[in-house]
Amino acid sequence: MMEKYYETDADLKNLAGKTIAVIGYGSQGRGQSLNLKDSGLKVIIGVRPGKSRDQAKKDGQEVYDVAEASKKADIIMILVPDELQAAVYKSEIMPYMTEKKCLMFSHGFNIHYGQIVPPANVDVIMVAPKGPGHMVRRTYEQGMGVPALIAIEQDYTGNAKKYALAYAKGIGATRAVVLETTFREETETDLFGEQAVLCGGVTSLIKAGFDTLVDAGYAPEMAYLEVCHEMKLIVDLIYEGGFTKMREAVSNTAQYGDVSRGPRVIGRESYEAMSEILYEIQSGEFAKEWMLECMVNKPVFNALTRADEEHEIEKVGAELRGMMPQFKKN
Ligand code: NDP
Ligand code: MG
Repeated sequence: MMEKYYETDADLKNLAGKTIAVIGYGSQGRGQSLNLKDSGLKVIIGVRPGKSRDQAKKDGQEVYDVAEASKKADIIMILVPDELQAAVYKSEIMPYMTEKKCLMFSHGFNIHYGQIVPPANVDVIMVAPKGPGHMVRRTYEQGMGVPALIAIEQDYTGNAKKYALAYAKGIGATRAVVLETTFREETETDLFGEQAVLCGGVTSLIKAGFDTLVDAGYAPEMAYLEVCHEMKLIVDLIYEGGFTKMREAVSNTAQYGDVSRGPRVIGRESYEAMSEILYEIQSGEFAKEWMLECMVNKPVFNALTRADEEHEIEKVGAELRGMMPQFKKN
């Protein structure tokens, strides 16, 4: 069983007197830093000039260039996009990674795949909230928190675990639960989850269902409502009470179709594809492919994303959502 931590296992005092630099002020940077500040910790922001920096100033944050913030800080949390972290680290953070400082991440990619190699005389820690930044912020404001993972890659000071737990408490995560993992486990399971199931798996499943119905002559609107719109209702039930609660809520006919037909859709071929995808993650092949893709300005990323943007399901979906009051802005 994984080690689990709650409010009373973590002490904010372990970060008292320390300056935390949050590098990047996007989804996670904004959510985490506002929570840390409201928890009474000393937070500064390191971000380049632009939209994010303007937002940070508007939020009343103390804002610096990345290098300046890294210099001032005891704890440096890197929250710029994963594919840019190595370059930002090398030019603006590395010179200030002096003895006993602490380098933090919310995803293990750059450490696990050796894109960032910190000096041996610093702590290297992960605190990874299991939700987007706006949820990290919203749940905190509601007196709750988003669960998080912690991991220790280097414990030079002997205080790494205390820092990780205090940081997790500062962002509100110990109000939910904090689980201890490793950089390797977090990186590999996170990549697998988003590729095979959450992002890649779900969009491909929806597209396959939509295409099958439309190719068979059914109205695209019907196809959209059946295979995409209703997805949320089903997922919400599973989220709340597992397969059992979902199956109690749907008709007996739906339940029989579910248990008898589902395994034919996700059958042996899918298990094999998932194993291959996992192997590419474990071997570093995916990481290499993605880093090379970024070096040549993302041609595959752009082409494949555009093809999906132009798929009929996106047009029909936008049209239908435009007519549904729950999707009207504000
Ligand atoms: P975002 O894309 O939302 O934000 C990135 C931030 O970095 C922006 O403020 C951006 O500023 C800034 N930035 C980009 N380039 C530079 C640069 N060269 N110098 C300084 N600042 C720069 O990122 P996320 O919050 O999504 O991701 C951050 C980390 O959190 C990643 O490691 C990710 O894996 C992890 N994570 C993300 C989750 C999520 O749900 N989003 C969940 C859990 C972990 P600008 O506006 O100027 O571009
Ligand atoms: Mg994830």
